[in-house]
Amino acid sequence: MPKLYLLLGGNLGDRILYLQQARASIAAQVGQITRSSKLYETAAWGKTDQPAFLNQVLEVQTALTPEQVLQSINAIEQELGRVRQEHWGARVIDIDIMFYDDLVLQTQRLTIPHPQLHLRRFTLMPLAEIAPDLVHPVLGKSIKELLEACADVLEVRVFEE
Ligand code: ATP
Ligand code: CA
Ligand code: CA
Repeated sequence: MPKLYLLLGGNLGDRILYLQQARASIAAQVGQITRSSKLYETAAWGKTDQPAFLNQVLEVQTALTPEQVLQSINAIEQELGRVRQEHWGARVIDIDIMFYDDLVLQTQRLTIPHPQLHLRRFTLMPLAEIAPDLVHPVLGKSIKELLEACADVLEVRVFEE
């Protein structure tokens, strides 16, 4: 079964609870969660005048196609009450596809691997915790190597629940 890596993030309301609910919905609708990183806290990226984010990476065994995964994670975001506002604005939950096996895909709705993942420390840190040797199918480097080369200066720290 294809192995999927999802990045979860949120910076509004009860961040821990939203992540918990997202994990439960993912397990029910996308597939079994086989690994999950710790929670990581990061100052908001891109638009900095908003609360800090909590992020987590999950490894999921899925029987869904990438398009079906996108539909499903969009539905989960809606269920959890995400209001689509400005790009990079505050949100209760954001779920993005990082990798789907070693698939490389670019359509109007979906880019896999996620085009920003190697530029974001808040993505690479949790990924490096659960999949340090995973090789990026476009860049040809492992997550560990990408993290070492990452120029993102925003501090990311393990969040103690
Ligand atoms: P970023 O992609 O920079 O993290 P974002 O997550 O805030 O930004 P959204 O507004 O949540 O952006 O999503 C915009 C669109 O991105 C979605 O509607 C979806 O169709 C598209 N998209 C493209 N590639 C992916 C991917 N790998 N995972 C999730 N969504 C994706
Ligand atoms: Ca995102
Ligand atoms: Ca998103």
